[in-house]
Amino acid sequence: KRLILVGPPGSGKGTQSPIIKDEYCLCHLATGDMLRAAVAAKTPLGVKAKEAMDKGELVSDDLVVGIIDEALKKPSCQKGFILDGFPRTVVQAEKLDDMLEKRGVKVDKVLNFAIDDTILEERITGRWIHPASGRSYHTKFAPPKVPGVDDVTGEPLIQRKDDTAAVLKSRLEAFHRQTEPVIDYYSKKSILTNLHAEKPPQEVKAEVQKALS
Ligand code: ADP
Ligand code: ADP
Ligand code: ADP
Repeated sequence: KRLILVGPPGSGKGTQSPIIKDEYCLCHLATGDMLRAAVAAKTPLGVKAKEAMDKGELVSDDLVVGIIDEALKKPSCQKGFILDGFPRTVVQAEKLDDMLEKRGVKVDKVLNFAIDDTILEERITGRWIHPASGRSYHTKFAPPKVPGVDDVTGEPLIQRKDDTAAVLKSRLEAFHRQTEPVIDYYSKKSILTNLHAEKPPQEVKAEVQKALS
């Protein structure tokens, strides 16, 4: 399957991705995770992306389209993929259609993690992540077995620099202004499914499974 996950910061995309990936053996491409890895490694790409990311603004379309175009060449992505956090603008969605057309494939389904803005601050400010895998935890809703430690690797968890109430505000503005039109774009193609992303993780998981069955 070729899937896209769209939703505001904190809506649960990263939490549901591994479940989908394990069940359908797809490659998982999260542009946010890839960009953070590039920033940490101080690659030329990371240097270009850092300023926008710190402010909660989107990085340039060309930059992320380039990352996705490159990643889609991986052998593990040939049978299917989950795009998590991409496309985030209509230009990115159009470029993705071009890329896939060249490869003779298309997007099967877009899952929209619909949720009210008011719930997101608590989710974002309580989030802890394991940077190497992208796994996320929450101090209240999904605590790790040992505080501050990844369940799987035993490595330390960190809080994202942009996971503050102030930066969340600009990230939500960017979402409403630039990413909501992407939801319309896929709705018009009749491949969009809306999820109740405010529900507990297990219930969202059940909705995801139903949408994909
Ligand atoms: P996204 O990838 O969309 O930004 P995450 O999956 O990282 O969102 O989730 C944001 C935070 O909320 C994380 O700390 C995660 O553990 C927690 N979380 C995810 N899904 C739920 C849910 N359904 N209910 C409560 N908390 C959740
Ligand atoms: P969240 O998990 O909170 O939804 P992400 O981890 O997906 O956030 O993204 C973090 C930051 O990386 C964004 O605020 C933005 O600066 C940048 N980013 C990620 N994906 C894209 C994209 N497709 N287009 C532009 N910028 C992106
Ligand atoms: P697998 O195919 O084994 O599932 P991936 O090769 O897709 O794993 O990548 C695992 C993680 O590595 C991704 O979630 C992402 O964080 C990071 N990653 C993948 N490709 C890149 C890239 N081009 N640049 C930076 N980080 C990447």
